[in-house]
Formats: sequence, C-alpha cells, structure tokens
Amino acid sequence: MNVKKNLEDVLSKIQKAKSNSQNITLVAVSKTVDSETIKLMYKAGQMDFGENRVQVLKPKTQELENLNINWHFIGRLQTNKINQLIALSPTLWHSCDSLERAKEYDKRLCVQQKIQDTLLQINSANEDEKQGVSVQKAVETYLTIKETCPNLNLKGVMSIGAFTDDIKVIQQSFEATYKIYEQLQKQGATICSMGMSKDYELAIQCGSNMVRVGSSLFQ
Ligand SMILES: *Cc1c(COP(=O)(O)O)cnc(C)c1O
Repeated sequence: MNVKKNLEDVLSKIQKAKSNSQNITLVAVSKTVDSETIKLMYKAGQMDFGENRVQVLKPKTQELENLNINWHFIGRLQTNKINQLIALSPTLWHSCDSLERAKEYDKRLCVQQKIQDTLLQINSANEDEKQGVSVQKAVETYLTIKETCPNLNLKGVMSIGAFTDDIKVIQQSFEATYKIYEQLQKQGATICSMGMSKDYELAIQCGSNMVRVGSSLFQ
C-alpha cells in the first residue's frame, strides 16, 4: 500500500471534480487500517480521519494522541456507547440519524457541559436498511433538533449515496440531499458530507463539500 500516492491521486481527482468556488474537506476513513497506517497517511499530509465504531476509535485516538488529528465519527451509534464517544470529543459527529438519538446525545452532553458539532444523517434514497431521517422529514427534524438540543451544534447534513450501480439513481440521491442542505444554509448549515470511494467525484459535482473516502486511500 502506497498511502502517499493514493492520497495524491484522490486529491487530484477532487481537484478536477470541483468548481473553483468549492472547498472540499477530505475525510480519510481509516476503519479498515491500523494506527501505523494512519500515521503514514498523516505524515503524507492528511489530518482528518473517520471511524465508524467507538470501540475502535478509542484505542486509535490513544495510540495517536501525539498527532494533531481531527477525528470524525461516521458510524451507527448505540445508546450505550454515547458516553464513550462524548469522552473522545470527535471533531464532527456525522451520523445523528433521528430526533430520539439527538435527544439522547444532547441529554448526556448537558450533564457534562459539552458541545458537539453534528450533522443530521439523511436516508436520501429512502432505503430500508439505511440509517437516517427521510428526505420528507429532514428539514423539520433539523429545525426541531436545533430548538430542543442546545448542546448539539448542528452544522449540516450527511448522506450515503443510493446503494446501486445506476449512476442516475446515485446522482438523484445526492441531489435530494443537496436540496435539503440548500434550504438549511439559511439556518447556518455549512457542511454537506456526501461521497465515498466509488462516487465522491459525482457527489462533489452535486455540491458536496466533505467527502468520506476509505478504500481508495487504503488499498
Ligand atoms: C466505510 C464508510 C465510508 C468509506 O467508504 P469507502 O467506500 O471505503 O470509501 C464512508 N462513509 C461511511 C459512513 C462509511 O461507513
């Protein structure tokens, strides 16, 4: 694995896909690699990393505590892991997937007097197996969380592209998420997190400003 070359390749593809006015944050999803590999990627210049399991994120943050890494949490969060995640203070929690989960998290943040930057996850293709709020309820849920969860600092939306090989359908799911993001910009939203290894260029063309790339960087 040549992480430096992989990083250069992905960054140049991002550069080609984006418009001049777009600023894209690359989150390197490191869930399949160990801390040594993350360190190599960090030395190549990458500072934002994403993990999807609290019990894996925790030892990695400890092993790499000397590095100035921004840790993103992107996975499904079980209620019994919330306090552990709060203790790790991730840079951004991408996967707040319901009002109930938001309230659970907010309640515990209040006790600890902490604030958490957060994205609302949208199930943009309304797929049964996927987490997130529906396209129809997204704006309303976002506003309700803003009103009722003072310790969650909502900064935008996150979505996983439709699970299909049909580019048109994937594009429609990104466009649906972007439309919601546009409406929420009036509410101060600044982050639209969408795009993974197989579709990040398409996501950028649909307006994403944060891509979460794993396998292309760590192959
Ligand atoms: C694993 C994962 C990614 C990265 O996926 P790749 O296809 O490996 O780039 C992005 N987002 C989430 C939520 C993930 O779980």
